[in-house]
Order: sequence, then structure tokens, then C-alpha cells
Amino acid sequence: MADAKVLPGKPVARALLEVTLERAERFTQKKKRLPKLAVLTSEDPSALSYLKSIRSTASKAGVALDEFPMKTSATTSSVVNGISQLNRANDVDGILIQTPVPENIDFRALAKALNPDKDVDGITPTQAGILFHGVKGAFAPSTARACIEILDYYKIALQGAEVVVLGRSIIVGRPVALLALSRNATVTWCHTKTAALPTVCRRAEILIAAVGKPNLVNVSFVRAGATVIDVGINVDENGKLTGDVDVPSISNIAAAYTPVPGGVGPVTVSCLFANVLDAAEGLKAE
Ligand code: NAP
Repeated sequence: MADAKVLPGKPVARALLEVTLERAERFTQKKKRLPKLAVLTSEDPSALSYLKSIRSTASKAGVALDEFPMKTSATTSSVVNGISQLNRANDVDGILIQTPVPENIDFRALAKALNPDKDVDGITPTQAGILFHGVKGAFAPSTARACIEILDYYKIALQGAEVVVLGRSIIVGRPVALLALSRNATVTWCHTKTAALPTVCRRAEILIAAVGKPNLVNVSFVRAGATVIDVGINVDENGKLTGDVDVPSISNIAAAYTPVPGGVGPVTVSCLFANVLDAAEGLKAE
């Protein structure tokens, strides 16, 4: 197989943002205010880098942004109180709780406290449940949605495809597999206890890697002609950003792959703002 095709995220992100901006302008005209996203920010370096992208994308999406730092000195109950206020605020349409939260804070308690109608990252039991039911209109976590948006943009069919998802986290692995299942893919989940990991991954026509382990996915994981979506964000010893995929190793066997940086990342931010508009417009699950 010739060199695999690169699937950049930027055109996908741009196309999504255009639609979101139009929706935001219509919303602003009707409600006489901008749609607004409130972010409970984390001090973690990867969260800070995500926050930078959120800041720079907000104005392009026509969305106002409020930030509330979750200091390491914060307690679960103080953050829950803050969430309750944001739940009640009429001018706040979406709330994002950045992860990882400080060690002493119970993330599940925060997720439970969040109003599901403002849960633009799909972390509440209600939104996760809607996704589990496979009905349209759930707020899927932005990264999971981004993987599907990339496949759709590049016309890589999910229906009937063998999809293997590496990772089972609440914000990526689990929801992306459910989204693929609801699009009639045949889905396998892998994790740290999966036996014969490369063999299982080699089944995939679409392999989605969301583990956070640089270069884990090499040629032994990839079926000839597969599409590889690399969600991983890792920083190597020289401060360089890498994904979970060893690109030189897979590029003669895969048909296509998303780069890191410049693949899933920019699409994730666009999906977040698309979810904010879904919330602002009061979109409900069917
Ligand atoms: P996470 O919560 O740490 O979950 C990692 C998952 O990978 C777990 O399910 C774990 O299995 C599995 N795993 C870890 N090492 C493995 C191995 N050697 N073999 C097989 N499975 C393994 O991470 P996450 O939040 O899902 O994030 C995953 C990656 O995506 C990270 O690099 C993160 O920075 C990146 N990310 C990117 C974006 C973006 O926009 N591009 C957004 C969010 C996250 P167990 O369940 O068995 O522990």
C-alpha cells in the first residue's frame, strides 16, 4: 500500500464552525444576547492547552465565554455550589467541567450536580443514558463527536464497518463506541486487560486510539487499508506533541490516519461549540 492519506482536522473544524456561527447569529438576533458557555477550568497543563483553543474559538463561533477556575484548594461542595448557580443562570447555556479536576474533588459528584440541559460535554448520567439508549439528540462528549465528524467529512462509512476502540474512558472511549454503534458499525472495545491487543485491533477497518500512550499503535495493530483515528495527546521528552500512533510504522499499511497535532484536537473544540448551540436552542433528545 502506498503512503497513507492524512486526514487533517482543520477543514472539518472550519465547516462545523461556519454552521455554528450562523446558528449563534440567529440566536443572538432572537434573544438579544450571545449564547454563553461557562467553563470550570482545571490547572492541568493539557486542560490549559484545551482552554487556550476554547478561548480562541469562542469568538469565531459567536459564543460568549465565562471562566471559573477550580483551584486545588477548592472542595467538592464549593464547586457543586458554583455549578448550582450556573444551572440557575438564565444567560448560561452550556457548562463545561474541565478534567482532570483537582485530586480532592469528586468528579462524579460534579457530574451529578450539573443540569443535563446545560451538559455540553455529555458527562451527566442523564446525557450518558440518552447516548446509551442510542436516540438522537444526546450531548455526546465533544472528542467522541469529533471522531465521528471526521469520518463523516471524509466519507468513511461507519455502517457495517468493523470499528475497534482502544480505550474506555467516560469522555472518549465509551461514548465514541456508542456513537459508532448507533451508526450501525460492529464495535469492539479494548483496554488494559484486553488479551492479544494487536490481534484484536487488526480486525478494525476503523481503529480509534484513545489511550494516551505514545506510539502504542504500530504496524502490528493495523489491518491493511484501515483508517486510524488518533485521539491521543502526549508530550514527549522534548516537549513535542505526539498521538498514540506510530505514524512511520503504520503509514505503509493504513489507508488514512489523523495527525497529531492538527487532527481530532481542532474538531473537538468545534464540536464543543456546536453542542453549546444545541443547548442554547433547547435541542432535546428524540
Ligand atoms: P484515560 O481516562 O486515561 O483512559 C485511557 C484508556 O486507555 C483507558 O480505558 C485504559 O484502559 C486504556 N489504556 C491505557 N493504556 C493502555 C494500553 N497499554 N493498552 C490498552 N489500553 C490502554 O484517557 P482519556 O481521557 O480517554 O484520553 C485518552 C487520550 O486522548 C489521552 O492522550 C488524552 O490526552 C487524549 N484526549 C484528546 C482529546 C482531543 O481533543 N484530541 C480530548 C480528550 C482526550 P483501562 O480502562 O483498562 O485503564
